[in-house]
Amino acid sequence: MASPTRRTTPPFTQERDRLLTQLNEQSIALRRSPEQYLEIADVLDELAQQISSIKIENNQSRCFSIKCNALTSTLLCHSELLKCHPSRSVEIAASIDLMQLQLGRLTMKVDDDDFAQKMDALSNRMETSWTPTDEMDVKEIRLKEHLHKIWRELNLSVPGCECGQCQDQDGESLDSLKVS
Ligand SMILES: [Zn+2]
Repeated sequence: MASPTRRTTPPFTQERDRLLTQLNEQSIALRRSPEQYLEIADVLDELAQQISSIKIENNQSRCFSIKCNALTSTLLCHSELLKCHPSRSVEIAASIDLMQLQLGRLTMKVDDDDFAQKMDALSNRMETSWTPTDEMDVKEIRLKEHLHKIWRELNLSVPGCECGQCQDQDGESLDSLKVS
């Protein structure tokens, strides 16, 4: 993964990179060694704790801490889910992948953060792929529904927030209402 070295916001982007790498490692570990689910759940708890303590600057956009909180609670939920239902490890790994995408979109400077913008573009593409197809079996449909639920919880825009991400998303949801 390219690590952005923009001088404008080094501390946060470095922290985000580190968290992303660690989340990615847990997703891979869960697929490769699901029997280690308890250790993995512990790391997820730790990462949730670290996301919740990202330092918020005074001039930060309104949505930033709300998005951090959403990521924290989703991560904690999945850690619990993993501890109680280790058989759902594949589903949880897929959920962690979605969380990575939303963590990648977290930014202190919406208009000046190439990496977050790339993640934004990826997120927009995700939005179009939630409809189950005819070929899917019950299990696959259940997985898709679970992921869609998480996506809705994380891919949020905060009313009144003036950051580019929330404004763009507001526009999109209005557009999609018009279409449907
Ligand atoms: Zn915002």
